[in-house]
Amino acid sequence: MTAEQARTIEQEYVESHPSSAENYRRAVAAIPRGVTHDVRFLKPFPLYMTRALGSKKWDVDGHEIIDYAMGHGALILGHSNPAVVEAVSEQVHRGTHYGGSHELEVEWASRVANLVPSIESVEFTSSGTEATLMAMRLARAFTGREKIMKFAGHFHGWHDYAIVGEQISGEARRAPGVPPQIYETMVVAPNNDLDFVAKRLAERDVAAVILEPSGASYATIPLPEGFLERLRELTSETGTLLIFDEVITGFRWSPGGKQAKVGVTPDMTTLAKILAGGLPGGAVGGRADIMELLDFNNETGKKIGHPGTYNANPVSAAAGNAALSLVADPGVQQHADALAKQLRAGFNQAIVAQGVPGFAWGESSAFHTMLGREVGNQSGGDIHTPQGVPAAELKAGSPARLGQPLQLGMLNLGVDLFHGGGFTSSAHTPQDIERTVAAFEQTLARMKREGLFG
Ligand code: PLP
Repeated sequence: MTAEQARTIEQEYVESHPSSAENYRRAVAAIPRGVTHDVRFLKPFPLYMTRALGSKKWDVDGHEIIDYAMGHGALILGHSNPAVVEAVSEQVHRGTHYGGSHELEVEWASRVANLVPSIESVEFTSSGTEATLMAMRLARAFTGREKIMKFAGHFHGWHDYAIVGEQISGEARRAPGVPPQIYETMVVAPNNDLDFVAKRLAERDVAAVILEPSGASYATIPLPEGFLERLRELTSETGTLLIFDEVITGFRWSPGGKQAKVGVTPDMTTLAKILAGGLPGGAVGGRADIMELLDFNNETGKKIGHPGTYNANPVSAAAGNAALSLVADPGVQQHADALAKQLRAGFNQAIVAQGVPGFAWGESSAFHTMLGREVGNQSGGDIHTPQGVPAAELKAGSPARLGQPLQLGMLNLGVDLFHGGGFTSSAHTPQDIERTVAAFEQTLARMKREGLFG
């Protein structure tokens, strides 16, 4: 046995990333859990980055890493896209905040309305979380109804209403710090259950149904065929508003998001991530008669207040305009989609070749992986809908005993798989995919040698 083979994946990770380890030691003293977003948490410590370009990023120990975290989905154009960098750099010199209106926000709003079918009028926020919060408030004010329906496992940010039912199996589990009264205003529909939706909406007390139109967590739990069409009918028939949370799918599933791809138009849409070209920013847009509630002179005489220091700040607007001008070309999404498909198929081939339980699946330019579990339709090709795996298991992903070594093993070989699922971009290349698939197979082989599959 060589010295390399004698080391475990985790030992190699620790030994080859000393500067990241040191950063983490300092981080835990100053930041709760040492990271600044729950999903960035990684044992024994996360990597610290110094720069990024295109499909790659570099860590403090000098390793080059092919990146699939891609700004948590914000970077469909890759890191530091030249047009976005130029727009941002120019704008920084002209001012980062005017405390007033500017032309870039007008251009930004027009670009959004031109691309996204449901959007007649758009309100900018600073994040996706704020966008879904505002969408729910608009829906409640517009309909005069209190309840919002969402689907178990769908993610809409971290505000009090969004967090209800975020986990599929934790219905009884209350999020600490969220008052019980909040739960009474939310209706959590079981995943993909349109019979439940039909019965509950018939009571006509639900203001809106909000969902990720890809299915929970960017198609981790895919929607059945015809689901969105039927949901549109059910909401229209009962005077319930339909909100598509396109924070991830917007400008990614197509230039006009999932709604343009399937031809189902919601009443409101929430956006963030790609919207602002990789800078902070969000938006809620939709039917003019609903959005009018933000207007000082709306017909109801009741205005919904909306301050927000960084709403449509000029730097995010400049980045957003540059990004949206590029993502309007469907070639961007087609490139990223084709590479993600290759990646998913390559992962499945590697799983079959190594004879381990697992599968990769996904839709558009997103992918997910699950190790330690057989799937009905594993044939070494691309999988969109995993057969025979319950929704809660899909949402949970690989058990930590396999998911963590997979992540560490891939990082040892210069690939950031994010949390076992991630995104391709227009900056990824077929060579990136080849290298990633090879790293994946090597990591599985090593995990097998370490006896991790039992
Ligand atoms: N909605 C969806 C579908 C998301 O994926 C996210 C974030 O990942 C959000 C809302 C929240 O957006 P933000 O992180 O900008 O607050």
